Amino acid sequence: MTTRSLSYWEDALPDAVPPAPLPADVDVLIVGAGFMGSWLALFLSEARPGASILVVERDVFGLGASSRNAGFLTCGHVSEMLDDAGDVGEEVVLASFERRRRGVALVRARLGDQLEAPCGSFDADELTDEKRALAERLNARAGREVFVEREVCFMGETTTRFVNVEDGGLHPVCVLEAVRAAARGVTWAYGADVVEITAGVARVQHVGKIETLRYGAGYVCTNAATRSLLAESDIEPGRGQIIVTSPLTRCATDPLLGYRDGGYDYFRRVDGRFLIGGGRQHFRREEALFDLAPTAAVRHYLEAAAREIIGHDDWTVEHHWAGVMGFPGGQHLGAATRRRLDGRTELLAGFGGMGVACAPVVAEEVAAGE
Ligand SMILES: Cc1cc2nc3c(=O)[nH]c(=O)nc-3n(C[C@H](O)[C@H](O)[C@H](O)COP(=O)(O)OP(=O)(O)OC[C@H]3O[C@@H](n4cnc5c(N)ncnc54)[C@H](O)[C@@H]3O)c2cc1C
Repeated sequence: MTTRSLSYWEDALPDAVPPAPLPADVDVLIVGAGFMGSWLALFLSEARPGASILVVERDVFGLGASSRNAGFLTCGHVSEMLDDAGDVGEEVVLASFERRRRGVALVRARLGDQLEAPCGSFDADELTDEKRALAERLNARAGREVFVEREVCFMGETTTRFVNVEDGGLHPVCVLEAVRAAARGVTWAYGADVVEITAGVARVQHVGKIETLRYGAGYVCTNAATRSLLAESDIEPGRGQIIVTSPLTRCATDPLLGYRDGGYDYFRRVDGRFLIGGGRQHFRREEALFDLAPTAAVRHYLEAAAREIIGHDDWTVEHHWAGVMGFPGGQHLGAATRRRLDGRTELLAGFGGMGVACAPVVAEEVAAGE
């Protein structure tokens, strides 16, 4: 078994659920209990009242990327979108921005009373005319001022940067739990590893034996682990690492969500502590794998970045963990996240670093029969 450090959020995991017998037949089978599988269970339970819906998760609760991310509920920021526009064209970027805004609104509409109010996010990279022009087009697309130029304090200096006023932070495990609690009538089976799935029949390793399960509609929501189930899948793993410090008495940077270096580095405040993740731009090859053991090299990088942004080193690292994203065809943007596998089965996976907002949008579309 892989060694892994729990994420800051996983301290809030509920007790493991004892295994219950699996049903032999269900109307809907969902594989994977991350954001994708959980939101889908919720929307399908509402769209198909009375249908039997089973979510099978191979881990004890669902320790995929969904409980190991940074908890940015975000529709994006200008540096990243400018880079992406160079790679995939501006129309793809604008469409993705609209979709992510829909996701942010959807999460707030469903869980608003359980989320923090939006604190906004800022792009710490230098403000350029190119970014101003893109922000104008993004705002025009949104029909409101999502990106505004504002003074922020970054690394001890007051500076003008773009602030995205709609973004906010969330606690990923609390959100997962809230979504599951809202999905009435759904059965959740943990420690159930699907080893084969095709055309209405799944074989599931559960409590030491393989069980056969028949389903009417099946949804594979296995993200970065997809290739271990579907060897031909093009979803490539990309690891990300995060550290969280001890509580801070002072910090030289405003308590907004922040992005630096084209969004590769991202930081926020959590319970008076500082969270920072990233570094993939410098460790691309080392991080292209599915392994939950964090590394010293990335930790040193994140510590140095934290020291700069916080402005002192009167803190220690209390949490350091890794999570794994899934990138369709290795792409960050522009590839399909829905693939039909056969007449009964669909793959819903590969949201890269955007799943907090994108997964509920896909779930809503699937449940609406789109
Ligand atoms: C370090 C890091 C930081 C991130 N930060 C952000 C952020 O701030 N904002 C944002 O929007 N996105 C962020 N992301 C991305 C986001 O976390 C993901 O896009 C999202 O969680 C994907 O959800 P999912 O349900 O598709 O996948 P997962 O959460 O990975 O869920 C897949 C589940 O399937 C289960 N599974 C796999 N194979 C099987 C099988 N054969 N049988 C049964 N179960 C199986 C796994 O155990 C897992 O629980 C980040 C990701 C990482 C790694």
